[in-house]
Amino acid sequence: MSEKKQIRVAIIGSGPAGFYACEHLFKKQEHSFSIDMFDKLPTPHGLVRTGVAPDHQKIKLVTRVYDKIASNPNFRFFGLVEYGVHITIEDLKKHYHIIVFATGAQTDRMMNIPGEELEGSHTATEFVAWYNGHPDYKDYKFDLSQEKVAIVGVGNVAVDVARILCRTEGELMETDIADYALDALKNSNIKEVYLLGRRGPAQAAFTNPEVRELGALDDAHAITRIEEVELDEFTKEFLEKEEDRSLVKKIEILNAYSEDIEFQKSKKLHIRFLVSPTEIIGDEEGKVKAIKLVKNELYKTEDGSLRPRATDETEELEVGLVFRSIGYQGVPLPEVPFHEKWGVIHNDKGRIVDPETGDHLHGQYSTGWIKRGPTGVIGTNKQDSGETVECIIEDILANKHIVPEKPHPDQLLELITKRQPDYFSYDDWLRLNELEISRGEAAGRPRLKYTSVEDMINAVKKNKKAANGG
Ligand code: NAP
Repeated sequence: MSEKKQIRVAIIGSGPAGFYACEHLFKKQEHSFSIDMFDKLPTPHGLVRTGVAPDHQKIKLVTRVYDKIASNPNFRFFGLVEYGVHITIEDLKKHYHIIVFATGAQTDRMMNIPGEELEGSHTATEFVAWYNGHPDYKDYKFDLSQEKVAIVGVGNVAVDVARILCRTEGELMETDIADYALDALKNSNIKEVYLLGRRGPAQAAFTNPEVRELGALDDAHAITRIEEVELDEFTKEFLEKEEDRSLVKKIEILNAYSEDIEFQKSKKLHIRFLVSPTEIIGDEEGKVKAIKLVKNELYKTEDGSLRPRATDETEELEVGLVFRSIGYQGVPLPEVPFHEKWGVIHNDKGRIVDPETGDHLHGQYSTGWIKRGPTGVIGTNKQDSGETVECIIEDILANKHIVPEKPHPDQLLELITKRQPDYFSYDDWLRLNELEISRGEAAGRPRLKYTSVEDMINAVKKNKKAANGG
């Protein structure tokens, strides 16, 4: 392939990893890349729109970087075009030299305990997608008439869910939470929220700014138990030898929540440690009424990590709702080799490999959570996509790419227009974005999201017609 020849790239998924892959590719001077990005939703930005907590508006400002990337004349967005439905691997191979899967981790892990299927037992991913106005989740129902809720897991997603459950109407008004979720939450009866960590405070997955924020809620007290935030012997020993300021700070924050206070706020947010759910207990109608917990102790494994081990001590926590927040999980994609146990695409530094032979499937790559699993913050994907792009560049030089029959961008456009006439371009998204922001302004909020695909399509059509004087 000559150096100046245009290389056509398809990126499946429009979250941070997909955008960072574009950014890295566009920066490569030695090739001219023309990139088409596909998403099954009309709206781009993946979890920045549908996952990042609505009260973390500053984090969402990262989309300005993505808008800038999207303004490159060699970039096109095809929203509402689903891989495996509107476009197949065979189609992609006909049109592109390079295919990059950046589909994230769209489901969640199971706890595999009795009662997980009871009414009132949900996944954090469903709840997060619901309050963020994801069209596929807008009709989910959560019984917020309950007074007590348990959230299993102490990662940042669990903390997000706890915070949203504890926020007041005034606090939520300052967010872009879906309007139906705002209505439901302002009328909620929730008084006590339990975050349940299976290991100790030093092993908690949440980060310091997130756990500190729990102490600054308008109408909820963060509470820990002194005996549960006491450091385990292994960590004490470690801290005697090594400096770890971030860990020391985390323990300080959690200790401060164990101090006696005068309860003036109406909600309590209990952060518990060293407990594992063993069963979700239902009432006679099959609805959650309690969660059974076993007290854990920590032990050191051969590799030096600290794991929880059940003791004989158990307790029953009366709760009417349970959210499990124990990590996201990738979903297999048609015709793409998938590692079921790890929940990721079979890959080597991003190169998709055939698990039988270990051979690289030329021209096929992965990036982000579907490549490495659901870890890290938004920025972690920049580095991850950089690694994938380096592999792409190396492989192009070695002529290990797809040789498409129909590389002209117009040929793809013709196909998409036939298969999904309602596809959303980036310009359509920018229109929708403006509409949402102005609806928000009218309601005294940063943004009022459209949450149904039909409404999104109609709003953009109407806006285009008005702009054309029709
Ligand atoms: P996570 O950080 O991996 O946390 C998962 C939690 O679930 C851990 O506390 C884990 O405990 C626990 N867990 C796993 N299996 C369990 C089981 N069977 N029983 C009980 N507990 C169990 O995952 P996440 O919260 O979904 O977050 C995903 C990624 O997104 C993380 O990298 C996170 O930092 C990031 N994120 C960041 C932000 C932010 O920056 N504000 C917000 C949301 C998400 P163990 O540690 O004992 O395994």
